Amino acid sequence: MNPQVVNLVYLFSAALFILGLKGLTKPHTAVRGNILGALAMLVAVVVTLARKEMGYTWIAAGVVVGTLIGGVLAVRIQMTAMPQMVALFNGFGGGASALVAGSELIQQSAKLWEPGDAIAADVATAAVASGLIGAVTFSGSLIAFAKLQEYQAFRKPVHFPGQQVVNAVLALVVLGLGVWGVMDPANLWIYGALVAVGLMLGVMLVNPIGGADMPVVIALLNSYSGLAAAATGFVLQNTVLIIAGSLVGASGIILTKIMCDAMNRSLVNVLFGVMEAGGAAADADEVYGGRVKSAGADEIAMLMDGVRRVVIVPGYGLAVAQAQHAVRELANVLESRGVEVEFAIHPVAGRMPGHMNVLLAEAEVSYDKLKEMDEINPTFAQTDVVLVIGANDVVNPLARTDPQCPIAGMPILDVDKARTVVVIKRSLSPGFAGIPNPLFAADNTLMYFGDAKRAILDLLAAVKET
Ligand code: NAP
Repeated sequence: MNPQVVNLVYLFSAALFILGLKGLTKPHTAVRGNILGALAMLVAVVVTLARKEMGYTWIAAGVVVGTLIGGVLAVRIQMTAMPQMVALFNGFGGGASALVAGSELIQQSAKLWEPGDAIAADVATAAVASGLIGAVTFSGSLIAFAKLQEYQAFRKPVHFPGQQVVNAVLALVVLGLGVWGVMDPANLWIYGALVAVGLMLGVMLVNPIGGADMPVVIALLNSYSGLAAAATGFVLQNTVLIIAGSLVGASGIILTKIMCDAMNRSLVNVLFGVMEAGGAAADADEVYGGRVKSAGADEIAMLMDGVRRVVIVPGYGLAVAQAQHAVRELANVLESRGVEVEFAIHPVAGRMPGHMNVLLAEAEVSYDKLKEMDEINPTFAQTDVVLVIGANDVVNPLARTDPQCPIAGMPILDVDKARTVVVIKRSLSPGFAGIPNPLFAADNTLMYFGDAKRAILDLLAAVKET
């Protein structure tokens, strides 16, 4: 295919990627944005395959196997396990970039016939960058996956004496191998060693990070996977891969910054992998000790009678219980009685960025009812009832008061300022950060124990009766 035509189609594809990303910035254009992005990828892949003659058998086999695995996973995956899936996607993206850059080095070094032949310095530099970033992304993402999947061995952040020294030594080794790899790219052992040390570095960087900080890590690894792809684009001299990788890298960094702000972590802190796991958690008996009051559906329905403003705070438990449709119905019934109902969305509620927005959109809750944390926090003092449904960490006042706790400094939804708080969850178990929540024992809080969906349906029935 004519290279100019290829470049024009790549430009078209890049424009589609950008329009796709733009579409993803708003809920009502997100589906169209997604379709545009997918179309851009299809165009880029088809043109790349058609650009020059190549053996298609292995490619077709890869596409079939990949499509089967991806299709089955996408259909079977639970919404609540989506972050793990994203972690795997990031990891495989990084791993693929490192493998492709490595295979290009192998191919190019096999063509060095004459004594003066050499691999170009820009290709060598890009290959080194791809190998290193790809390897860190791959192993780091697998550890993030294991943490999100809550595998026992990975639940706790790993700390040992001299950890920072080991990290510094690994970073120096990687730097040395990188420089050596750029100077002697045809020596494939150097590339192999660089990837091996990069894999170790990925494990060392993500292992010390506590579960509560995982959203930031996932966003960062997402960005790394884009950077690795962009570097591979330079290795292959493929413009659309450079552009698409850069877009992923940049948007991942922006998301990282948003998540950092939401969790009150500095970006530098994350970039150098020195996030603290936090100190000892408060003792649950001390926090709850005989102070927790519980109520049933009828009492809460009576409480709702005559209120003017209700704010619903969804959390991870809403996703587990798949209670979004029941919640929408409850909101509709309350609104039909003249109650003002809004939804308070914390940026890290659930297990992935935008988790609550997606769930509520699925239940067709109007977007203008979803309020971001900064917008809704000043309104809690004028709110009659806050319904906290399956949320825990994002409403935990310890973040404000206990500098030792793992979520210290994380901005929270100030639901404790409302007149009455009703918390729906199954028990007093902690949330993702593993710490007790004094909100459950506050004077103005009523615990309504049960599975979120069942509890809301019962409450709905009781509200309809009052
Ligand atoms: P959370 O702190 O994890 O708490 C969820 C609560 O839901 C639990 O305490 C659990 O209590 C309850 N629950 C579970 N299943 C339930 C069910 N079927 N019915 C009713 N309740 C149920 O959730 P969150 O407040 O949304 O906070 C999110 C946390 O996840 C933060 O710490 C955040 O940093 C972290 N995180 C976020 C992301 C992200 O990108 N959003 C990614 C990874 C991690 P019971 O067991 O007692 O019912």
